[in-house]
Amino acid sequence: MKRREFIRNSSFLMPAAWSPDALIKSFFADPWNIKMLTRDTGIFTERGGTILFHISKQGMVVVDSQFPDQAGHLISELKKRGDEPFELLINTHHHGDHSGGNIAFKDLVRRVLAHKNSKANQMKVAKERNLEAGQLYPSQTFENVWSEKIGRERITLHYFGPGHTDGDSLIHLEKSKIVHMGDLMFNRRHPNVDRSAGASVQNWVRVLDRAIRTFHPKTTYVFGHAAEAYPVTGTRQDLEAFKSYLQALLDFTADARAKGMTKEDFLKTTEIPGAGEWKGDGIARPLGAAWDELASGSQAP
Ligand SMILES: [Zn+2]
Ligand SMILES: [Zn+2]
Repeated sequence: MKRREFIRNSSFLMPAAWSPDALIKSFFADPWNIKMLTRDTGIFTERGGTILFHISKQGMVVVDSQFPDQAGHLISELKKRGDEPFELLINTHHHGDHSGGNIAFKDLVRRVLAHKNSKANQMKVAKERNLEAGQLYPSQTFENVWSEKIGRERITLHYFGPGHTDGDSLIHLEKSKIVHMGDLMFNRRHPNVDRSAGASVQNWVRVLDRAIRTFHPKTTYVFGHAAEAYPVTGTRQDLEAFKSYLQALLDFTADARAKGMTKEDFLKTTEIPGAGEWKGDGIARPLGAAWDELASGSQAP
């Protein structure tokens, strides 16, 4: 249950809590939610991709930034929790719901880090949409792996090739056994597949497989997005489930194409066979992307 709902429900369910104060609180509760995963690491959700933050003596580390207003809310919350400087802002990838809030960290954060393709994508999209003035670009990029000790935590970024885009990083907080998957994980929600930024459904399956094999079985994973009523954190079982979904999507698409189905009819599909947990809006996005990917004859790199 979201904090806002909790406050509202509890003030109505428990007459003893009825007071002008409780009532005011229930109407003006913050629109964001903060959940601590460990003593010094937590997630922030409001609008856009899930943000992960880590507080250390050497400085704060933030993964993803949602939009400018949301980043502002996060910054004021973190300032309440400590006066350490903002050491590092990481973008899992370039999409606006993950990097749009970077600008709120201007002159506040020492470094911004992302995969080199993520930076290139961010610059390209900002230029195309005439949004360059509102960007804070990565000051640092990496290609395959990046690792640094910050405070007591070791932070390692991995790039396993294209998936949701061609620039998705996996951010591993090694001591805490937490991995932010960015939009490589849509928990029980149909994913956005950005072919204009080099996405590959076929390689996405391999990326998830590699994550499962790379990280400790007890790892807590942070997801970019989740369906209503599903959590934005989970376990390797959730990665397995999403991997099966993507494989079912590819098999179903290949089968439809082999049977001579038209793309138009294919896009009328309402459920991917074998992936019934994925419901709701947006099924045309992965269907269309998988169709185009197979039609182009491209194979996973
Ligand atoms: Zn997203
Ligand atoms: Zn995205």
